[in-house]
Amino acid sequence: MSDKIIIIGSGVSGITTALTLQLLGYETEIITAKVPTEIANKNAHPDFASLFPSASIIPHSVYSHRLEELFKLSQSFFYELRKQVFPGLTINKHFEIFEFEPDQPNYCEWMLNLELIDNLPDDTIPRRSDDKSLNGWVFDCVFADWSLYFPALIALYQQSGGTITKQKLARKDISNLSSEVIINCSGAGGPLLFEDPSENQLIMRGHLLHKANAPLITNSADEITSYNYTPQPDVYSDAEGNTCDVYCYPRKDGWILGGSRQVGELKKSNTWESLNDSSTYTIDGIQFPQEIISLNNEILSYTYDHSFEVSDDITPSVGYRYIRNRKNGLRLHQENVSGKTVYHNYGHGGAGVTLSWGCALEITHEITTKKTKELKTELLKNISKIDMKKLS
Ligand SMILES: Cc1cc2nc3c(=O)[nH]c(=O)nc-3n(C[C@H](O)[C@H](O)[C@H](O)COP(=O)(O)OP(=O)(O)OC[C@H]3O[C@@H](n4cnc5c(N)ncnc54)[C@H](O)[C@@H]3O)c2cc1C
Repeated sequence: MSDKIIIIGSGVSGITTALTLQLLGYETEIITAKVPTEIANKNAHPDFASLFPSASIIPHSVYSHRLEELFKLSQSFFYELRKQVFPGLTINKHFEIFEFEPDQPNYCEWMLNLELIDNLPDDTIPRRSDDKSLNGWVFDCVFADWSLYFPALIALYQQSGGTITKQKLARKDISNLSSEVIINCSGAGGPLLFEDPSENQLIMRGHLLHKANAPLITNSADEITSYNYTPQPDVYSDAEGNTCDVYCYPRKDGWILGGSRQVGELKKSNTWESLNDSSTYTIDGIQFPQEIISLNNEILSYTYDHSFEVSDDITPSVGYRYIRNRKNGLRLHQENVSGKTVYHNYGHGGAGVTLSWGCALEITHEITTKKTKELKTELLKNISKIDMKKLS
């Protein structure tokens, strides 16, 4: 038996974890049912979440008792990668705006340069008309431009000697894998491969529109600006009456317009079943909430003098955020299965990109017993030797 470590899954969790170990001197192999670089039509694979992220580094729609610690570790790593000009990483001035008084989530305190909007000039705040009283905040936020960042991450893993093998595993295959240590990053496939103690298997479906050929939206200091905007519940809410938000994240390849958070359940067949459905608009056979178009258009035209029409350069997509449960959905846990030491790393909900480096470093700490701080420093030192231009 070799000292190799096998990682199951080639989403952002699997690639980041495997890359971390590989760059720290371990031999790794990813075994995966689906390989992201081989997929042409992502809408045929809604369960493969890493084909879809928007990808803001904010802990939205994720549940973990260790969220603060993991988020801060991950966020600080992204800031360091950005300093090293890793492909696709930007820092936005990101607004979270509400047409009512919201409870401020804990994560606001973890974001850099947080400011309430009360003291900002009105014309800098995303709004859809001038007669709404708004609440909210703005902070600095890392964004991963997915069409650049994810391919670069995969390329770096392969350049570093990591291998990706395509194979859909079943439970009976685990005991025959050629390594003692297995890291399970199989996302929504997790409960089919291993026993899962969670009673709920919640999925939050998300709709996105990609508008190509759209300009970057910047403020007077030339900083990229993005927003999440939540109107009154009677304007946009799900079937249970929960308010929903829309958003616009400008990227080099256009705008990512969202969103929806439709809760459903993962059935034994690994398919999603809706607990409610509010889709009302159809593009390319895909139904999605019409508010993504109407509300974003109101905000973009009122605040930024931009708008868009439903035309050929708009591509819809629908993917699943695997929340698991709303108490401690993220499963970052070690157990012995079929004679193997298995580290689980799944259930990241709407924040798998956000938590990717934090979870990868935490698992590496479990395996090596070295402190995460030391591992982070060593990893960044090794990444600094890489010619980033060769990854683009
Ligand atoms: C619309 C939308 C917007 C989002 N926006 C953001 C955002 O702004 N920021 C953010 O941080 N996150 C965001 N997310 C969430 C993020 O995309 C996910 O949390 C993340 O991609 C999960 O990655 P993962 O690697 O854990 O799982 P996945 O990407 O689902 O990968 C699972 C892997 O396991 C493999 N696998 C499964 N079963 C088996 C098996 N039996 N044998 C072998 N391989 C198997 C699959 O083939 C796949 O390679 C968003 C998600 C959606 C849907």
